[in-house]
Amino acid sequence: MSFDPYAIRNDFPILERTNRGKPLVYLDTAASAQKPRAVIDAISEFYESHYANIHRGVYELSERATRMHDDAREKVAAFLGAAESREIVFTRNATESINLVAASWGRQNLGAGDEILITTLEHHANIVPWQLLCEEKNAHLRVVPINDAGELDMDAFESLLSDRTRLVAASHVSNALGTINPVREIISIAHERGIPVLLDGAQAVPRFAVDVQELGCDFYVFSGHKLYGPSGVGILYGRAELLESMPVYQSGGDMIETVSFEKSTFKSAPYKFEAGTPDIAGAIGLGAAIQYLSGLGMDEIERHEMELTAYGTKLLEAIPEVRLIGTAAKKTGVLSFVVDGIHPHDLGTILDMEGIAIRAGHHCAQPLMERFDVPATARASLGLYNIPEDLDHLGEGLHKAIEMFR
Ligand code: PMP
Repeated sequence: MSFDPYAIRNDFPILERTNRGKPLVYLDTAASAQKPRAVIDAISEFYESHYANIHRGVYELSERATRMHDDAREKVAAFLGAAESREIVFTRNATESINLVAASWGRQNLGAGDEILITTLEHHANIVPWQLLCEEKNAHLRVVPINDAGELDMDAFESLLSDRTRLVAASHVSNALGTINPVREIISIAHERGIPVLLDGAQAVPRFAVDVQELGCDFYVFSGHKLYGPSGVGILYGRAELLESMPVYQSGGDMIETVSFEKSTFKSAPYKFEAGTPDIAGAIGLGAAIQYLSGLGMDEIERHEMELTAYGTKLLEAIPEVRLIGTAAKKTGVLSFVVDGIHPHDLGTILDMEGIAIRAGHHCAQPLMERFDVPATARASLGLYNIPEDLDHLGEGLHKAIEMFR
């Protein structure tokens, strides 16, 4: 069956709801994606019929819950093309996954005078943990600049790598501009010098197929809630050899092998990084989201969102008062813009009255806003359930707002 976004919309109960009494036009999927019935049902069914804590019970229900949780990890591993499911660590979100790497791998591998290289395009989640680590270790944070289109300056990237660079941490897709970064090139250049690479895939995994082995990255992180799954669950992929070499991060129940008051020993990866009761239903819901997306086909989703991005770009370019921020040759899913004489927050409020949900602000990328010399942008972001009519509504709403401010 071919990909039909009009039919797919029926899988998402919330799209039948209204916003301010108007049909909901949801253009904020980069902040969080709406949930298909398959995910909602998988979570309800788990709580209704299979719920128990995992890893602890000898009774049937607990064994079943444990199997379902293990199965979710297998699904994530297959979805990312990981070699083994022990390379998949469940966290709360992409932010926690990055903090885990910074606290564990970072503390072990960074010394005074060392460097971590990030990019101007990063979300605060891929800036602040490295900044704090550098402060703690007397190390330095280096930043790859971008051009006016919002593309990385790859010559600068190469020249910023030094014999003190210990890690490159870069987004796969920018949440604020939609730029798709040349991650293969980044990894190949960094690896030539023996430098590991962490990719923040929060905005990439919902938009196209990602294969961590094919990319060759060392760490890859994302959040379940942006992948049409529940909030409260995130993923850290790490190459097995790296995860095994890393010290524990949080400690307590479930991650130990033995405990005495003198000394404790720990399980192997991924369990040594999963202290305490995890979001069991969240993991199962994420597994259901992955199954749903795989059923639709990531390549079809990619094509659909690319087409919509091109459609939305044309539509916005045709409005003289609108200036697009982020015009990379390779971009997807995000349309960031400013409108002459209207603050993005006012624009967000006016569009909200029309039923249109967009985001206005710095998008947790303040240094990037500074680079473009704007305090904020309006951002319409796309998901697999969006249709050209959603963007037509956005265009009409913008014309209305421009008239109001004339
Ligand atoms: N990185 C990117 C590129 C993001 O878009 C986001 C969420 N906006 C994050 C990291 C952080 O995700 P979370 O808040 O789910 O941890």
